Amino acid sequence: MGIVLLVLLVVDVLALVIFSNYYSNAAEQSLTAKLELVISPLSRYQTVSGLESEIESSVQEFDEKEKYELVALSTSGEVLLTSSGFEPSEWLDLSGYEKALDSEDGEYCETLTLSSGEKVMCYTVIISSLPCEYGALMLMTSIDLIDNQIFKIGVVLTISILAIILLMLFVGLSFVRSIVVPVRQMCDISKKYAEGDFRERIEPKTSDEIGELAESINYMATELENSDKVKNEFISSVSHELRTPLTAIKGWSETALEISDDPETIQKAMKVITGETERLSDMVEELLDFSRIEDGRFTLNRETCDILAELGEAVLIYGERAKSLGIKLEYYEPEMLPFVYGDRARLRQVFINIIDNAVKYTNQGGTVSVEAFEQDKEIVVLISDTGVGISPQDLPKVKTKFYKANHTRRGSGIGLAVANEIVEMHGGSLTINSELGKGTTVRITLPITEQF
Ligand code: ADP
Repeated sequence: MGIVLLVLLVVDVLALVIFSNYYSNAAEQSLTAKLELVISPLSRYQTVSGLESEIESSVQEFDEKEKYELVALSTSGEVLLTSSGFEPSEWLDLSGYEKALDSEDGEYCETLTLSSGEKVMCYTVIISSLPCEYGALMLMTSIDLIDNQIFKIGVVLTISILAIILLMLFVGLSFVRSIVVPVRQMCDISKKYAEGDFRERIEPKTSDEIGELAESINYMATELENSDKVKNEFISSVSHELRTPLTAIKGWSETALEISDDPETIQKAMKVITGETERLSDMVEELLDFSRIEDGRFTLNRETCDILAELGEAVLIYGERAKSLGIKLEYYEPEMLPFVYGDRARLRQVFINIIDNAVKYTNQGGTVSVEAFEQDKEIVVLISDTGVGISPQDLPKVKTKFYKANHTRRGSGIGLAVANEIVEMHGGSLTINSELGKGTTVRITLPITEQF
């Protein structure tokens, strides 16, 4: 702003100097041209009397008396004749005559201020053709009009510059208000987000790019807050998941140590410890799989495999548990299904995971049914339950890592994410349909291998 202000002031002063010079030069040129018209015929006269009478008639009959004053001066510089006929001594300063005499070309132009305050430009030329009573002719004109003109230009220029400065101030202020202030606010809030404090949000004041940026930052904060919350919940549910079998293992080990002479109790303790250790190992395996998926190290050992064998085994594993929980596990096993080119262990893991969820989220007296069939060159596996179901708000998110729609049952929230990844790596799909309070159906499709 300071630099622009300085430049504008310099421009203002320069423009005034240029205009003033231009008008002065124009006035001087006009005086020169007019006096030249009077002076040039004088050289024709051979006699002093003819020259003098020509000078007198030129001065008295000068036809632009309104704008100019033509003055004839004596050889000693006194005023002898004026075109207006007024007494000149009151208003005329005759220093120009001496200066014209001293100059090389016998001419002199000067600007004077009269006693009346009027400013005039005087152009004096020495008459050198014949020595006569008249020594010089002087033409003068008022330059008040020029000064007025320059003053008006100065006023217009200054007003324009002030208007430009005001405009710049206004633009600068609105720039500060619309960009600098919100950007500073965003910086401050972003720092808080970086420190983990997501409480504040930016209020978008405009609908331009800055407003959009504010909305994006708000969206980012909401997502960060959610993922922070999900991460905390994940840590807490995994810790809880690990603690439950560890408590059982610890309790039964202590019982076995205490009652070392009762083989039946020891047998039961060993059974529980083995079961819980297996559960722990499965959980750790699932976590490791998830971490492998996240960093891209998850691979499949693919071979031609019979899906029915893997599905049958998964159903068998859960048969006992479902029975003990009072849940009916129905398996509609087809006679034969085409082969799939896939990883046996991983596919079994997917079926176990989905059946485990179905049993876990179904209350006593409910039913879990498993069926498989061929449809449009694909194998379709349907695992349905009459359990608690999933709400429409949670349904789109349950396949997301760490997402738990139901916090009342055990689970880390990564089972479906891992299962979905495995199915997709096989070129298949995993879709979930559910109605809250009625039940859930998970549909898994796998492409049939072309080789057999
Ligand atoms: P979790 O280990 O918590 O079960 P999953 O990734 O397997 O994690 O499932 C994610 C969420 O999806 C669960 O927390 C649960 O709310 C919901 N869910 C999955 N399967 C079912 C089902 N059969 N019935 C009801 N809810 C289910």
